[in-house]
Amino acid sequence: MSVVGFDVGNDTCTVAVARQRGIDVILNDESKRETPAVVSFSEKQRSVGAASSTNPRNSVSQLKRLLGRKFADPQLQADLQTLPFKVTEGADGFPLVHVNYLGEERRFTPTQLFAMVLSNMKGLAEKNMKGAVVDCCIGIPVYFTDLQRRAVLDAAAIVGVRPLRLFHETTATALAYGIYKTDLSETDPTNVAFVDIGHTSMQVCIAAFKKGQLKILSHSYDASLGGRDFDEVLFRHFASKFKSEYKIDVLQNARASVRLRTACEKLKKMLSANSEAPIGIECLMDDKDVKGFMKRDEFESLSAPILDRVLEPLKKAVAEAGLTQEEIHFLEVVGSGSRIPAIIKILTDFFGKEPRRTMNASECVARGCALQCAMLSPTFKVRDFQVNESFPFSINLTWKGLVPDSENGGTESQQSAILFPKGNVIPSTKVLTLYRSGTFAVDVVYAEESTKICTYTIGPFQTSNGEKAKLQIRAHLNLHGIVSIDSATLIEEILAELSAEQEVTANMDTDEVPNNSSAMDTDEVPNNLSSSGSQNGAPTEPMETDKVVTSKTKVKKTTVPVSELVHGGMTIGDLQKATEQELEMALQDRIVEETKEKKNTVEAYIYDIRNKLSDSYREFVVDKEREEIVEKLQETEDWLYEDGEDETKGVYISKLDELKKRGDPIEERHREWSVRGATVQQLVYCI
Ligand code: ATP
Ligand code: MG
Repeated sequence: MSVVGFDVGNDTCTVAVARQRGIDVILNDESKRETPAVVSFSEKQRSVGAASSTNPRNSVSQLKRLLGRKFADPQLQADLQTLPFKVTEGADGFPLVHVNYLGEERRFTPTQLFAMVLSNMKGLAEKNMKGAVVDCCIGIPVYFTDLQRRAVLDAAAIVGVRPLRLFHETTATALAYGIYKTDLSETDPTNVAFVDIGHTSMQVCIAAFKKGQLKILSHSYDASLGGRDFDEVLFRHFASKFKSEYKIDVLQNARASVRLRTACEKLKKMLSANSEAPIGIECLMDDKDVKGFMKRDEFESLSAPILDRVLEPLKKAVAEAGLTQEEIHFLEVVGSGSRIPAIIKILTDFFGKEPRRTMNASECVARGCALQCAMLSPTFKVRDFQVNESFPFSINLTWKGLVPDSENGGTESQQSAILFPKGNVIPSTKVLTLYRSGTFAVDVVYAEESTKICTYTIGPFQTSNGEKAKLQIRAHLNLHGIVSIDSATLIEEILAELSAEQEVTANMDTDEVPNNSSAMDTDEVPNNLSSSGSQNGAPTEPMETDKVVTSKTKVKKTTVPVSELVHGGMTIGDLQKATEQELEMALQDRIVEETKEKKNTVEAYIYDIRNKLSDSYREFVVDKEREEIVEKLQETEDWLYEDGEDETKGVYISKLDELKKRGDPIEERHREWSVRGATVQQLVYCI
């Protein structure tokens, strides 16, 4: 069973596989280690990995920006301004990307498009491993919300891979950094800050390494600060300069905009190495060639508002790690967006040390993911190394509860409790105790923005004595960083005698039951949030629960139904439909691929036979036969480059058969002769 790590970036993708001797990054069909994260559509096919500069409207990129976000999301709206393809709002409020594919307009969700990129990476891994790829780890930005995480899982389901973990990119980097270190102390941690500034976002994580383990102390980010923003500064500058100098408005022309952005990105990179650099584009618009020039100083002052934002996530990460800059031993920089000298200066000044680039920035996420996958897979033996991950958000549980008042028994009001605080270990389970008299709903929300993630309806249930029931709700923060309520249990404390069977159950389960007298008196308030052990070697959090149970108390537990409503994402029906569509498109891709292969086979056959006719087959063909076949070969070759340029697989197969009808007899004569020759030689040898 293959063990694979996927890094699907906004710009590029990398896939790594674990082998017994180590981690390998896989080469794509062009023998490159990185594949552009672009899906292009055309009349005939879709292809992943190459943008079409002539058809920008049908080349979809920046998929991670679109994934799991509402169309109305201001960040999404800002992103759309710079993207050349058409995006509209779907009936569910989420974006739909429009493309022309196979001669018709098709609409795809970002999840489907992400699945296409993933499927391509899966294909590369399968080709390399010569076997199916199912188990994997997929890198995700730490700031991915619940919906975005679910969208990645949906995409994985569409292409038939099973993520053992969605792994934060910076943690993957930290793992790839730490697992091979041999000089880690058992007692004194080595604190390392990882700063990743990519194309669209910035992520910071501070990790403490000890022998055999890493602990993430803090995560911070700016989800919309990356190399792209610097390209945009240059783009705006030159767009307005060219408007006044050349009277062209590139903003009105998708193709010109794409070309100017590309030139600006190139200019930005040149300015990392030079104090000034030129820009020039031929025939940018209205047949006009444009020229420009930029000094690094001017670029830096134009970019000042963006550069100012770099400091914030750095400060946050250090503060939340509970450290000072002096206590951070190393500063590791990944992500090529940080190659800008002004950024390097900010990092150096803030941390008071030189940034290091020990990690291979384009591979460390995929490598870390493959390592994590190997650690989680039962088929692999990896050296003992614990990853103690930290959750980047605070999650609350809110519900409508009765606040008692003297006149009418109580008024409904919104109540909330922290379920998983920021920095909570991943994975983790917590048990919440509530007192309710009938079916009720709870919302899982992001504490900071009060955005709802899911709503759970809990009930119906009945209590034997008709009073408010004590319910234990078990919430789980899983390895992917997704929160869910797994179960609800009605707890009845009965003094009466129990049957033998019930007694056994009661005794077995008592460790979970907070039997705390003050808790029993409190109404509506979650009086007990207990955490229980987590899987996969993550440390168990201290129990907050008073677990003393008097020997006389008997507890009866009844499972209460829990139904989940996720606010967004795909239903099972959507998922099935998307899977079918993906299979159909994959089939179409295969047909296109096989057609190309057959066409190549015809071409190769022509060259091969032609060469052999004047070489090894020379003695096996009479002149007339040679003339006929040479003519046929020429005729087919001409056809291949003209009428036969774009034919179906079947047509190429029959062309090959026609040629073979003439070629095979010659080949057969030659073969017979060779075999006979060999036999004679053998006989001679035996004698
Ligand atoms: P993200 O992390 O946002 O998903 P990514 O991982 O694909 O994106 P990277 O490959 O780390 O991004 O970085 C790409 C960015 O780095 C681009 O914006 C690119 O222009 C920029 N970049 C690459 N080389 C340089 C350079 N020499 N100077 C400045 N910027 C550079
Ligand atoms: Mg990146």
